[in-house]
Amino acid sequence: MILTARDITKSFGEAPNQTYALRDVSFAVNFGEMLYIVGPSGSGKTTLLSIISGILRPDDGDVVVKDTDIWKLGSDALAGFRLQTIGFVFQDYHLFPRLTTLENVAIPLILRREPWDKSLAAARKTLQVVGLAEKESLPPYKLSGGEQQRVAIARAIVAQPDLLIFDEPTASLDGDTGRKIVAFVKEHILNMQRAIIIVTHDSRIYEYATRIIRMEDGRIVPEAGADHEK
Ligand code: ADP
Ligand code: ADP
Repeated sequence: MILTARDITKSFGEAPNQTYALRDVSFAVNFGEMLYIVGPSGSGKTTLLSIISGILRPDDGDVVVKDTDIWKLGSDALAGFRLQTIGFVFQDYHLFPRLTTLENVAIPLILRREPWDKSLAAARKTLQVVGLAEKESLPPYKLSGGEQQRVAIARAIVAQPDLLIFDEPTASLDGDTGRKIVAFVKEHILNMQRAIIIVTHDSRIYEYATRIIRMEDGRIVPEAGADHEK
């Protein structure tokens, strides 16, 4: 298992006006899985994503990533662990407009204090993987939406994390571009023995999942059988 979440509970606010965003959520992810977390708005997907990626502390429960119980780490150790282990692709990409495409992709390596020239060389290789080598010196805003998404993916994988997390990867893309990106990720990125977690409510991309977890009202809905997943 790359990730095991056990009995995660998270509430917001003070009693008696608490909102339970998550109640006793447990699941596990294996290498090679492309796991989707789906469900209506307000069902707890973003909260769960934040907790498993070490951004938001749960009230209760454990998150074990590659044998490390992440919420037992101190904050510096946790930050370092996240940088080593988890790659993030945000909904709105978070690309830096004043940096070139190449420099954007190199950022995680720079943050890990890799030498500048080595970082740029690795970023260049990764841009080849996502098919954007010829755009390396452009600022990201000169690229199309789908290309910007690929830059964000390149940045998330450049440091070879074990776990890749996508938050609503197709939210700002039209249907065709969105499907192409996700198909691309499945074909070219997942094959590196990574595990990928995708939070989405875009049913047009469900077909690429190797497994789907459905959330409702802060809980995982028990599977009703694979036929019902699409
Ligand atoms: P989803 O990502 O599925 O839309 P969220 O995880 O964002 O769901 O939200 C789950 C529930 O927790 C919702 O009722 C939401 O209003 C509540 N919630 C999430 N974050 C906060 C917060 N920072 N403060 C108060 N309530 C929150
Ligand atoms: P998403 O579209 O990714 O599900 P949301 O719109 O649910 O995101 O939430 C965006 C941000 O607002 C998240 O950081 C979430 O924790 C926070 N949030 C959600 N619901 C509430 C709430 N009721 N009160 C305060 N913050 C909230």
